Amino acid sequence: MKRELSKNCKDFINDQAIEDLVAETVENASHVREIIAKSLNKEALTVAETAALLAVKNKELLEEIYDAARTLKKNVYGNRIVIFAPLYTGNLCENDCGYCSFRRSSKTTVRKTLSDSEIVKQVEALEDAGHKRLILVCGEHSSYTPEYIAGTVEMVYSVKKGNGDIRRVNINAAPMDTEGYKLVKEAGIGTYQIFQETYNHKAYRKYHPSNTNKGDYLYRLDGLTRAYEAGCDDVGIGALFGLYDWRFEVLSMVTHARFFMDRFGCGPHTVSFPRVRPAHGVKLDEQYLVSDDEFKRLVAILRLAIPYTGMILTARETPEIRREVMEFGVSQIDAGTRIDLGGYTNHMKQEMNKEQFHIGDSRTMDEIVRELLNTGYIPSFCTSCYRAGRTGEQFMEFAIPGFIEKFCTPNGLLTLQEYLLDYASPATKAAGNVLIAHELSRYSHSNKSDLVEKLRKTQLEGAHDLFF
Ligand code: SAM
Ligand code: SF4
Repeated sequence: MKRELSKNCKDFINDQAIEDLVAETVENASHVREIIAKSLNKEALTVAETAALLAVKNKELLEEIYDAARTLKKNVYGNRIVIFAPLYTGNLCENDCGYCSFRRSSKTTVRKTLSDSEIVKQVEALEDAGHKRLILVCGEHSSYTPEYIAGTVEMVYSVKKGNGDIRRVNINAAPMDTEGYKLVKEAGIGTYQIFQETYNHKAYRKYHPSNTNKGDYLYRLDGLTRAYEAGCDDVGIGALFGLYDWRFEVLSMVTHARFFMDRFGCGPHTVSFPRVRPAHGVKLDEQYLVSDDEFKRLVAILRLAIPYTGMILTARETPEIRREVMEFGVSQIDAGTRIDLGGYTNHMKQEMNKEQFHIGDSRTMDEIVRELLNTGYIPSFCTSCYRAGRTGEQFMEFAIPGFIEKFCTPNGLLTLQEYLLDYASPATKAAGNVLIAHELSRYSHSNKSDLVEKLRKTQLEGAHDLFF
């Protein structure tokens, strides 16, 4: 079937060139230090420079990379971590991806599409936990049309329980055509995420049969370009690590980000780097599984290579790994995650044949928020940039001096204050109050008195959704 591609669409992934860079780049300490300095100067790296970081094996030099990633995170993004939750709305799927339990050949997967009233109940449960940001996820199926997805987005926004409301809905779904993207944009989506899974053409063919929609590599690679051109200007790229050599995937993601920069003058809003997880009915080829040490390296190197982009770390990872890699520049994590359909109201044990894969971090929102607070992070539920028309928000945080002090920190604190009042356990509330007091004591922006007043109104007058 001939499908719509963007104007001047081209396949910008040259497997051989990337393989050569991986194979032929040798470790060179002084060059690596120059590259680190460039990144700390907030300049995006080239693909070859990223390859030079990937070639590092020397332990001390690796530590310098980790330190630089930590410094970049601290200096550029501060100590906020934005919280979201995935909402799986349906697992019917016409594709047959070799790593996913939703694939059509998995006959024992329990299939379900949430009804409208079930979606409302899930959203209410998410609001009751304090969520303000969701990402909608579904399989690829003829019944999950752009109209269906746009309608779901609108429905999610309309659900209000108590003080709860969802203020930003992102999407992770199959690539669409231009009309489809326009529809979901009109429904008010935030970021449109499409993961290329693997950028290597041969591995892509191995995992995505050619007789399925997803078997069309170029249509998927071009998916976010079409989205951008249709008006979805917050897009999220990603690779599913474990399907092919992780170094190849990192260089390809950098290539993809640079392609966006060159074409639109704006890079992707987020990058995701999920590692493949055990899944029902899936027998994983273990050749390219990524170890924890490799994972740490890839997160730190991605941070340095694409310094302007938000980085998402999901509950696929265990609490220990999340703790460790968060400091390398992660800006968003999910919390209280359930990926079984209807899981937010089903308090039974998660059931493998109803979920896409097995998650590594099943802690509650309150537990995760408390841990963040106790380790000096500001858990932020902020969605203000998007609603104030400041899209490409991560980019602005990066590019505009003082943006974080003026907008992100105060909005993070205000949304945290709301969370503490409405949803937190006593222990989390206590930890949160200590953190807010500490952050205020070192806050020096000229809007400080306005912030103090907004916090007071939130705390004492029950005001909600005050933001800068
Ligand atoms: N069905 C759409 C698609 O494939 O693009 C969108 C949603 S899919 C449910 C979301 C992502 O889950 C996929 O892009 C893939 O990267 C990831 N995924 C699938 N199976 C996985 C597994 N076993 N472990 C970790 N992530 C997985
Ligand atoms: Fe379907 Fe997406 Fe799973 Fe592939 S990854 S089988 S497209 S749900």
